[in-house]
Amino acid sequence: MPFHRIAIVGAGPAGYFTAQAFQKAQSNNLSFAIDMIERLPTPWGLVRSGVAPDHQKVKTVSKVFEKIAKEPNFRLFANVELGKHVSLKDLRDQYDVVVLATGASIGRKLGIRGEELKNSLSAADFVPWYNAHPEFVDVKVDLSSDTAVVIGAGNVSMDTARILAIDPAELEPTDVADHALAKLKQSNIRTVIICGRRGPEHAAFTAPELRDLLKLKNTEVSIDPKQIEEAIKHIEEMGNVERDLKNNIEIMKTIAETEKKGLTRKLEIKFLTTPLEIKGSGKVEEIVFQKNKVVRGKVVATNETFSVKAGLVVSAIGYDSIEYPGISIERGRIINIAGHVEHNVYTVGWAKRGPTGVIGTNKSDSTDVVELIIENLKEPKACEGITALLKSGHEVIDQIAWGKINASEVISGEIAGKPRVKEADWKQLISLGRS
Ligand code: NAP
Repeated sequence: MPFHRIAIVGAGPAGYFTAQAFQKAQSNNLSFAIDMIERLPTPWGLVRSGVAPDHQKVKTVSKVFEKIAKEPNFRLFANVELGKHVSLKDLRDQYDVVVLATGASIGRKLGIRGEELKNSLSAADFVPWYNAHPEFVDVKVDLSSDTAVVIGAGNVSMDTARILAIDPAELEPTDVADHALAKLKQSNIRTVIICGRRGPEHAAFTAPELRDLLKLKNTEVSIDPKQIEEAIKHIEEMGNVERDLKNNIEIMKTIAETEKKGLTRKLEIKFLTTPLEIKGSGKVEEIVFQKNKVVRGKVVATNETFSVKAGLVVSAIGYDSIEYPGISIERGRIINIAGHVEHNVYTVGWAKRGPTGVIGTNKSDSTDVVELIIENLKEPKACEGITALLKSGHEVIDQIAWGKINASEVISGEIAGKPRVKEADWKQLISLGRS
């Protein structure tokens, strides 16, 4: 039976769920040969390099990815970069369909004075650093001061703050990068302040992540109870309130009211604070904030400012997609209509909709795009796929090579009492794949 060749660029959750949707859509008269192309020598995208190491349960979704990869119509081509080893034009010619699942990896900038100072980092650098992404091993993270500030009131900000605030011993039995654990063990940081520019009622945290804060054994979490009282008043004025928001406020209220035990490690969430400037001579020393207030549901600036002495700032305020030749980006994502980019090119995941949603969001999103693709399918082309495009001698990490890397990391983990010990060196990863 003739089959359609599908190239999926990006081996993260959105890419795998797209492959799965194609696999599920196969029938007696419709079949697909799926090639997943990935820039890094390892697949799994944010499940490997984004999800926090103390959230191991979330990472079990990788078992689903491996099941998808075991299907006979699936091939992995990792260590292959779009725009470097293959062009979009070539992929378009050599495949019936190209799906860009390239995510959003550029950290958005605050655009304030002092943002370029040493130790003012983006979560887009800090998160892959602690997750052993081979390109972020050398990120300079200075944890010598006693206070860190994290800007943004979303789940990435929460992950960042938790990793900085918890006792590193709690990360020992995880797959946190060895280099990051060593640094965190030496850390002097004892106070981490999350700063959100709007109120608790506008925070982008999700309930499970907020609940996690109540479980921290060695870190005291605080929120000003007055800010919660105000937020409750505001949502009462709103009338019809969504359940998620009610849950969030309920958990934040519990956090605010929980008796403090006087622990030395502290994590504070400060709402209604907009960073104005980062000060310091050569490196971060102080962050100046403007206080805001909520007036008729809108956040407005007050004339009041305050500053926090801190030696590290991490901004976790969202991401934009990378621009590849032949792809246009608008408002941080690939220009598309319901996932259709142009001709036989489609997009899914964060590259399609922007950096929103949890891992599971990608499942329904990818299924919708695959339905659209199938509606638009033409007769399969006579084409060879990626093998016609790669230069001879280019070292591809295929599913077998990835299996070797994976096994090696898991075995090292078993010895160390961890789920895995991640290899963070690109060349070493390739050599593990060869072994
Ligand atoms: P996010 O949820 O969109 O949160 C971004 C935060 O940054 C918001 O509080 C936003 O405030 C703030 N912000 C934006 N621009 C700002 C500026 N110029 N100054 C100050 N604050 C600013 O983004 P994210 O945290 O990067 O997360 C991305 C997605 O991944 C989310 O859907 C998240 O739930 C998901 N995720 C999930 C998990 C998990 O399930 N455990 C973990 C990590 C990430 P405004 O609301 O005022 O714009």
